[in-house]
Amino acid sequence: MCIFCKIVNGEIPAYKIYEDDNILAFLDIGQVTIGHTLVIPKKHVQNIFELDSETAKKLFDKVVLVAKKLKKALNIENLNLINNNGSLAYQSVFHYHIHLIPRYENDEFKITFPTNKLTEKEFKDLEEKIKNA
Ligand code: AMP
Ligand code: ZN
Repeated sequence: MCIFCKIVNGEIPAYKIYEDDNILAFLDIGQVTIGHTLVIPKKHVQNIFELDSETAKKLFDKVVLVAKKLKKALNIENLNLINNNGSLAYQSVFHYHIHLIPRYENDEFKITFPTNKLTEKEFKDLEEKIKNA
């Protein structure tokens, strides 16, 4: 059984900050910044590609709720949502989870977005290909 399923069924402990029948939110053991939280569906799905629409709706509703709890509790105005799918995307626990990472002045968390220059045709082809998939 995966480590997050073990947290869900109480086999291993976690610092739980929200729980209902379908969703669990708990503090990430790594605390990238103070308040770093994971929100997961209790149902085991590996990644976004396995997530069903009903679970996704319930999950995101609670992501919003937990974000507001973090804002209130920690007096923050800035927060990143991160979700890694697959090992190339840095996923290390293969039970779907969304990271909520509060941001603070001068914190040490860095994210960079490199850019690729595409031609008009490349953008158009890409638009069509994805739209029609
Ligand atoms: P990811 O790299 O997106 O798969 O993130 C997995 C996250 O799970 C990491 O940030 C870990 O710190 C966190 N993590 C792993 N084990 C535990 C645990 N037992 N309790 C809380 N967080 C955990
Ligand atoms: Zn699991």
